[in-house]
Amino acid sequence: MAMDPVCRMNVVPERAAAEVRYQGEVFYFCSIPCKDAFLANPRMYLERPIAEHPPGYTPRKPNE
Ligand SMILES: [Zn+2]
Repeated sequence: MAMDPVCRMNVVPERAAAEVRYQGEVFYFCSIPCKDAFLANPRMYLERPIAEHPPGYTPRKPNE
């Protein structure tokens, strides 16, 4: 299990919407907007203590 560094939710790597290699580590994302937000400012997300989805994030319904 990996953690989406943008929204801090757990992501199963095989099911991640996106993955990014940054500074030798691979990060997995629950959604494309999370990946885009991370790429726009990776250091902010790696250092930020709070969890929040970026604008445009749409949660998947549990039954999908
Ligand atoms: Zn996310």
